[in-house]
Amino acid sequence: MSLLGNKDDLKVLVEKLNFKEKIERSKALTREAYEKYGEALVVANSLGKDSVAVWHLAKRVNPKIRGFIVTTRYKPKETIEFMKKEVKKYPELKVYKNVVAIPESLYRTDPDKCCDILKVVPVKRAIEDMKVKCWVTGLRCTEGRTRTDFKEVEERDEGLVKLNPILIWKEREVWQYLALYGVVVNPLYKEGYRSLGCAPCTKITSDDNERAGRWIGTSKCGGECGIHTKPLMDGDGI
Ligand code: SF4
Repeated sequence: MSLLGNKDDLKVLVEKLNFKEKIERSKALTREAYEKYGEALVVANSLGKDSVAVWHLAKRVNPKIRGFIVTTRYKPKETIEFMKKEVKKYPELKVYKNVVAIPESLYRTDPDKCCDILKVVPVKRAIEDMKVKCWVTGLRCTEGRTRTDFKEVEERDEGLVKLNPILIWKEREVWQYLALYGVVVNPLYKEGYRSLGCAPCTKITSDDNERAGRWIGTSKCGGECGIHTKPLMDGDGI
């Protein structure tokens, strides 16, 4: 039976499947999608722990799989350094960045608009530029209040499928995978961050919610930048 068309109860699977079974399911989802979409399957790599796990997993399915990174002028220097090393290691990772002029401190006055310009727009450009029909993300349903209802396979935009192959993994299982497979991670995790983003909008917290340190003090607190919630094929790219 096709896993891409599954109607499984994901909340049950989060608790029921063990670590090995989750890895096998994630690989099978990615393999099936790659067989269907070929080169048009592309991994979105945000350089966070979930992304590097998905990237590693995808490369085990097929080393030819391509990816893209969206970076911004506000990424921490550690993330930029990490990005350079990853791109050197994997030249098939393309980097997209919107360098358009924006008001100073837009991240404070209107973070939704800032994310829209600096993150959503370059994702749209990557999808168009790389002729993506299926993009693969490291989204997980246990990550925070905004991520509980996503599916492993979604088609929010017509003609663009989003595959979330590690949707049912817990935070501990991501670290388990990274440790067991020796995957190098962004050094900022050593400082205590649990979710990484742009420097002005990311803090270290001891909150239970993994994404609690994102956009603290704004209406976006613990929320989303928009790439998982907004249309990506409305032709409104750079
Ligand atoms: S995370 Fe902050 S700085 Fe980065 S794009 Fe969004 S609002 Fe702007």
